[in-house]
Amino acid sequence: MIYDVLIVGAGPAGMTAAIYASRGNLKVGLIERNVPGGQIVYTQVVENYPGFKSINGVDLAMVMMEQTAEKDVDFIYEDVTSIKKEDNLFTVTTNENEYKAKAVIIATGQANRKLSVPGENRLIGRGISFCALCDGSLYKDKDVLVVGGGNSAVEESLYLAGVCKSVTIVHQRDEFRADPEAVDKIKDKDNVHIILDSTVQRFMGTDKLEAVEIVNLKTGDVQEMKFSAAFLYAGHLPATSFLKDLGILDERGYIITDQNLMTSIPGLYAAGDCVIKDVRQIATAVSDGSISATHAVKYVRSLK
Ligand SMILES: Cc1cc2nc3c(=O)[nH]c(=O)nc-3n(C[C@H](O)[C@H](O)[C@H](O)COP(=O)(O)OP(=O)(O)OC[C@H]3O[C@@H](n4cnc5c(N)ncnc54)[C@H](O)[C@@H]3O)c2cc1C
Repeated sequence: MIYDVLIVGAGPAGMTAAIYASRGNLKVGLIERNVPGGQIVYTQVVENYPGFKSINGVDLAMVMMEQTAEKDVDFIYEDVTSIKKEDNLFTVTTNENEYKAKAVIIATGQANRKLSVPGENRLIGRGISFCALCDGSLYKDKDVLVVGGGNSAVEESLYLAGVCKSVTIVHQRDEFRADPEAVDKIKDKDNVHIILDSTVQRFMGTDKLEAVEIVNLKTGDVQEMKFSAAFLYAGHLPATSFLKDLGILDERGYIITDQNLMTSIPGLYAAGDCVIKDVRQIATAVSDGSISATHAVKYVRSLK
């Protein structure tokens, strides 16, 4: 069987693409290596996606998944390891199978770089967050921690300083890598404390984050501090390593597309957080899903 459109990744971008493509009355498959929902599954509360004043990330993922499942879309739970195109047909290889498709949409998103320390995996979504804009307001008048020293860490700390009682920034180097103006602003805030040359070596808490162990990387001294939340900004990694031989990635691994979200390979589209863009949110991922699928459908019809 040959799919008209195969979509890789069932986050908000991939599910939207599937809904749009299936409405074009085409044979559509959606391949996901984990659970549908993508990064929103790790979001405590979403309050900036129109239509839902406030919704838990898992619940939003379920609503999207139910709507997608009502369409004529094949859900395939496998990990895509390579894509290649020959004679106008794509071969999408997974850890288990090979699929053929006329057009492919890559919607594999990105993953937050974790610190990989004890307690982290267990407390993600229970006090550990990767998005101050999304979750900061849950910690009004609380003491929170930010880990990182780049632009995201400093800018999100500025936001948190206006919402939370105090913000402690832990950075592993002796100076910030962020924009100097933003660094000056953060240093001027009375409720921001900065701990340099240090990192978190353990997250602690039973059902939610309660405390962290911070180690000074120069002296080896360890201190335990109490926080209601920790926001981690150790960077992101686009989930695109399986595409590195196709010549469609920029130097950081994000996918280069035209305004219709097609890559330099005709019929190969990309959508959502894995694409080069400034704002990576659910609303922009959903927008990309609709644009890429609309053009993928046009492309498939043009082959007939
Ligand atoms: C903690 C957190 C909180 C957030 N809160 C908000 C918020 O409140 N509001 C907001 O608008 N945005 C929020 N965001 C951002 C938002 O979640 C993302 O912008 C959005 O999920 C991007 O959607 P996507 O479909 O592009 O990618 P993703 O959501 O990353 O989905 C990609 C999917 O592709 C799958 N995949 C990856 N590689 C493969 C492969 N090789 N084979 C098969 N499947 C693969 C992944 O398993 C994943 O399910 C938050 C992000 C995080 C991490």
